[in-house]
Amino acid sequence: MPGSVFEMNDVVRALRVNAAELLRQPGATRSLVLRFDGDAIKVVHDHLDGDLAVDLQLESMNDGILVTGEARAPWATSCRRCLKDITGVAAIDVDELYQVELIDPDAYPIENNQIDLGAMVRELALLELDGERLCAEDCAGLCPVCGIDRNADTCDCDTTVTDDRWAALDGLVLDD
Ligand SMILES: [Zn+2]
Ligand SMILES: [Zn+2]
Repeated sequence: MPGSVFEMNDVVRALRVNAAELLRQPGATRSLVLRFDGDAIKVVHDHLDGDLAVDLQLESMNDGILVTGEARAPWATSCRRCLKDITGVAAIDVDELYQVELIDPDAYPIENNQIDLGAMVRELALLELDGERLCAEDCAGLCPVCGIDRNADTCDCDTTVTDDRWAALDGLVLDD
């Protein structure tokens, strides 16, 4: 659809902030609230489950422009221990500095007088979406012998030998 192409360009444009104007007025602030398709900033991930959203504040500082606030990424994946399908929304804290001259090693560059918030949000969102998740902190997982879901059922399997083997394997993987 031609319409969706325009929408994506609008998102990319909205996430590119004119830094020159802000840098001229130390203390000046701007806010940006936006919800958009991850495709617009090339966030393509198996676990992404809906639109990304940002609620950001930009503040002109002496040494650059500070961007704070939150990015939200809805996700769908399976529990690392019991493999049950789970969904949620990751709230990602944003606290990033943009500088013309990169004095702070963690800062993002201001290029051509522009701040590209899209690149930063992309980086943070992909990192967050890569994370492994549990259905619950105390998920009991699956029995390694019979595969029963230990959250719902119990079994009489002797798992001590199997667990030892896995421990040895874990060691090998870690040494790699
Ligand atoms: Zn689980
Ligand atoms: Zn079992």
